[in-house]
Amino acid sequence: MEMNGIPKIVILGAGYSGIMTALRLQKELNYNEADVTLVNKHDYHYFTTQLHMTAAGTDNPENNRVSILKLIDEFKIDFVKSTVVQIRPQDRRVILEDGTLSYDYLVIALGGESETFGIPGLAEYALTIRSINSTRLIREHIEYQFARFKREPHRTDLLTIVVGGAGFTGIEFVGELADRVPELCRQFDVDPSLVKIINIEAAPTVLPGFDPELVEYGMRVLERKGVTFRIGTPIRECTPDGVIVGDGEEIKAATVIWTGGVRGNRLVEEAGIETVRGRVKVDEYLRAPGYDNIFVIGDCSLVFNEEGKPYPPTAQIAVQQGVNCAQNLVACIRNQALKPFRYQHKGTLASLGKGEAIGIAFGRKYRGRTAAWMKKVNDLRYLFVLGGIMLVLRKGRFI
Ligand code: FAD
Ligand code: NAD
Repeated sequence: MEMNGIPKIVILGAGYSGIMTALRLQKELNYNEADVTLVNKHDYHYFTTQLHMTAAGTDNPENNRVSILKLIDEFKIDFVKSTVVQIRPQDRRVILEDGTLSYDYLVIALGGESETFGIPGLAEYALTIRSINSTRLIREHIEYQFARFKREPHRTDLLTIVVGGAGFTGIEFVGELADRVPELCRQFDVDPSLVKIINIEAAPTVLPGFDPELVEYGMRVLERKGVTFRIGTPIRECTPDGVIVGDGEEIKAATVIWTGGVRGNRLVEEAGIETVRGRVKVDEYLRAPGYDNIFVIGDCSLVFNEEGKPYPPTAQIAVQQGVNCAQNLVACIRNQALKPFRYQHKGTLASLGKGEAIGIAFGRKYRGRTAAWMKKVNDLRYLFVLGGIMLVLRKGRFI
């Protein structure tokens, strides 16, 4: 508790879960009920769910981010633009790259990181879709390979893009990339038939676990756009020249994008909190085991369904956790009963590029334009929840 008796709440991360916690707290808390500080390494909130477009170059990064100061009320929430370097639960402190914060209640909402499963070379040579900055790098990297090809026309590997992992991130990315290729070819005077997009998946199917009929539809759409799938083919190694798959076959590619999985932020396990691949098995109130003042939400948390299976880390669950976490923080401060977190899965929609998507919502399957339209409505809905109609108009891509 602070000297003035006002409890200090520190929220780490302003992604889907962290920004939602902050916005709900700012709405719920009365003046002087708590000191709330939000820490984020950038001064903007970005839409991770749209990053496949920024990475492929079909969308401008500006459409995918919004200034945090435009979302929060600075009279109610202190925003600190800084990078968290250490969490110290033992002395209720967080170490930032340029300072220290103490807390009474901590919300860890730092998101996930790419999981490379120790596959050699991936961390060094593959690119990942994780942030605005990482997607700028992918876009520029691909353009540079096209430009190089004009100087080294025998090197068709410069026009080969390998995407490792055909989960939702991989699928959404290859859909966008296939849409971008014709424009890239025009821009760099390249014969489109020389460009290869190869999506490699270890499991016997793309989108393992998803509805087989929709998967079949999705694969057909993407193959028609020029994507080649290699399923049942694990990537064993990534090298400066491409990837080694299966029994040792080499696929030469100047661009390798790794979309093979995510884990929780490493700072959480380094804090001494028990994790499974960086994710904390939180209690029913989203608290870390053994700490009744530390909430862990979003991709850093692990929540199980009634059959004991973990929910996949998504923006959908992250947003709902943010709302519940804010309610429980208010309850803690007011000495009221906490509310258990109950996830309401509304459905899954995945884009396959312009005008095409697949998904399940309201217990029904959707594909094609209808699914793409539903995904768009869903994205607009998030903008509305975040910043009202003005944000919808500013970032809704109506032009
Ligand atoms: P994030 O949204 O990742 O936010 C973490 C925040 O913490 C970021 O602002 C980051 O800058 C900040 N941060 C990280 N480390 C530090 C540090 N050390 N110091 C300070 N700040 C830090 N889910 C869906 O439900 N629907 C979709 O359609 C969908 N599409 C996706 C498409 C793509 C291409 C990808 C990659 C993911 C998609 N997801 C989707 C998954 C979804 O984006 C994540 O589950 C969601 O972003 C998790 O939210 P979060 O709050 O845990 O973390
Ligand atoms: P994921 O874990 O869902 O998929 C990774 C894929 O990579 C899997 O299919 C896996 O079999 C494959 N893989 C793993 N190792 C491999 C190897 N060595 N070689 C080849 N393939 C390999 O990861 P993701 O797609 O990044 O998704 C992360 C989370 O974000 C998930 O929870 C997902 O649901 C969510 N997400 C949702 C959407 C959406 O709803 N539209 C979009 C993107 C991501």
